[in-house]
Order: sequence, then structure tokens, then C-alpha cells
Amino acid sequence: IFEAAIREQVLIAIDEAQIILFMTDAQTGITDLDEEVTQMLRKSKKPVLLVVNKSDNNRLLLEATEFYSLGLEEVFFLSSMTGSGTGELLDRVAELIIDTPDETLNLPRLAIIGQPNVGKSSLTNALLGEERHIVTDIAGTTRDSIDTRYNKFGYDFLLVDTAGIRRKAKVHENIEFYSVMRALRALDECDVCILVIDATLGVESQDLALFRLAQERNKGIVILMNKWDLIDKTTNTARDMELVVKERLKPFSDVPVVFVSALEKQRIFKAVEVALSVYENRTRRIRTSELNTFLEEIQEQNQPPSHRGSLIKIKYGTQLPIAYPAFALFCNHPKHIKENYRNFIENRLRERFNFTGVPISIFFREK
Ligand code: GDP
Repeated sequence: IFEAAIREQVLIAIDEAQIILFMTDAQTGITDLDEEVTQMLRKSKKPVLLVVNKSDNNRLLLEATEFYSLGLEEVFFLSSMTGSGTGELLDRVAELIIDTPDETLNLPRLAIIGQPNVGKSSLTNALLGEERHIVTDIAGTTRDSIDTRYNKFGYDFLLVDTAGIRRKAKVHENIEFYSVMRALRALDECDVCILVIDATLGVESQDLALFRLAQERNKGIVILMNKWDLIDKTTNTARDMELVVKERLKPFSDVPVVFVSALEKQRIFKAVEVALSVYENRTRRIRTSELNTFLEEIQEQNQPPSHRGSLIKIKYGTQLPIAYPAFALFCNHPKHIKENYRNFIENRLRERFNFTGVPISIFFREK
């Protein structure tokens, strides 16, 4: 099982990497697996640097020369423990990295995540199609690129880890470990995650687990109820299902839910539009003066409950200069602000400023 997993890892690396560092162990010497991996790496056109680690002293270094017999051109002997030899490797890697300015840096990054078989690949393919003019691969990489830029019909965004989704035919994704790893990485790298759920099955605990992961990471979230074509519908089916879905998402239920069919390409652009509006919401900045007027108003409506007779007052607040909405509110007794008052503030913030699809952090600080 382990060797199969390693082979899979090698295939993924060959597919996605720009440069491959093939790391081996001078103390164990060449193994059968090393030879097998070498065969696999030979077939790729990407630069392969053979790294012979644990070459800690002169004796080991001499013995390590056996690694030349693998026939790879660039060999680096080093010791991660002492650091010797790492500089040469770093220099070579730096040489190989093509220094292209990244114009995609500021584009919204969307990730499609969800359980197996909910329709992620279908959705990705429905969006990207196979037409070259729709899909532009990121500079410096080929069709194996992890991210895909979508730049058509007035939309301009990156889809994160499309290779992972589209590769499916090539590498078996049935090793659950890798699909979970991929989902986590895609989540980390995105601004907004498009969580695809099978509408015929409804929200399952695995879906909720992914939802909470995205929420904890303060990512924007859109829920797509896919396979909508398979649902028997009457006038209120969508509305009713939306209520059921949002009930499951509580306490964070200010999240858009879109009913789509990847198969019939139904409402998939609507889904993109909603995801991009969530991106807008996530980048929204509230001016401090506006925030303070807001704080005064809501405290007039509903004063923070006093603690043992002492009044609690939020004096002022400011939005923190970070990637997602987070507010520092300064008050006389931050410890005594109750959870439900915090929730009251969050709900009012959502009503006033539109943070749909975006988790909000609120910190109370003493002043
Ligand atoms: P993934 O594992 O999440 O990437 O799911 P796939 O895209 O491979 O889809 C799994 C199965 O569901 C395939 O048989 C698809 O044809 C099917 N499927 C995906 N989207 C839809 C949809 O909108 N409607 C219907 N009826 N089937 C769908």
C-alpha cells in the first residue's frame, strides 16, 4: 500500500511540479524503489535534481557516489542535518525558476470542493470546456498547471487545483488520503470555496465537515446543490430545500445556496457570479468613521448587558487590515461581553454591510 502511495505521489509531482527534487538516503544506499522512481522520473521532461541526503561526513560522501549509477544528470550531495551542500542545491533551484511576473496574483481564487461523486469534475469541465480560448494556463506552466485562469464573458478569476480535479482519469483518486489532502490544500489557497453537495442526498455530515473547515479558515463560501435535474420539483422545492440547508449550517447560515446542474449546465454561471460577489464581500472594507457611527447606533438600540452593576460600553472599533473581515472593538470590560451580544453585533454588521458568505471575526479589546 505504501509503495503504491509513493508511486501515486511521484506521478502527482511529475504532473504538477516545475522542478523535481528526488530525495534519497545516503545511509541506506540505493533501494529498489529508488530505481523504480528514477525510471518514472526519466519519462518526464521536467528538470530532476537528485538529492542524496544524509551525506553527513566524508566516509558517507564517498559511499554516496554510488548514486551516480542511477544515471540522473544533476546530483547534489548534502546533509540536511548540518546544512552542508544545501546552498549549491538552492542556487541551482533558483537558476531553474523562471522569473515571470505573476499578473494573476490579485485575481479572485475560487476552489471547487466537495465529497467524491458530487460533481466537482463535471462542474469544472462544464465551466472550462476544452476550448483553448476559454482556458488560459498560467504562465510558465503547461496544461498540467494546478490553477486555471478563467477569463471570458467578463469574468476573470483563478480556479484553484483544477489539475487535481481533472486528473481523475489519469490517476486513481480513490486513495482517500490524497483527496482529503488536496481538498485541504485547495481550501488553504482559495479566497472563496465553492462547496458542491449532491442535492439528491442532501447535506451530509461530511459536507458539514468541509463547510466548518472553510469557516474556520475564514474563507468565503458558496453552497451549490448539484444534480438539481434529478429532483422532482414543485413551485417551492428550491425555497424549502434552501431553508433545510441553512438550518444545517447554523450558526453560520448567511451563506448563498445555488441550485445547479453541472450535467445540464444549468445556472453554473449564476454560481460563478455568486462566488465572485462573495469574494467582493470578503474584501469589503468599512471605514472607521462609518463603523463607529454604526457601533453607536446599535448600542442605542440595544445596550451591552451590564456586568454586576457596571455599565459596559464599546467605545470605538476598527476593521483589521487582513484578508477577511475582522473587527477589533475597544471597550471597558471586554471579558464581560456575552456571546449573544457578540452575535447581535455580527448580525447587525451583516445586515448593514453585506458579508453574505463570509465568516466574520470580532475581537474585544480593553481600552
Ligand atoms: P466528482 O467526484 O465530485 O468530481 O464527481 P463527478 O463530476 O465525477 O460526477 C460523479 C457522477 O455524477 C458522474 O456520473 C456525473 O455524470 C454525475 N453528475 C455530476 N453532475 C451531475 C448533475 O448535475 N446531474 C446529474 N444527473 N448527474 C451529475
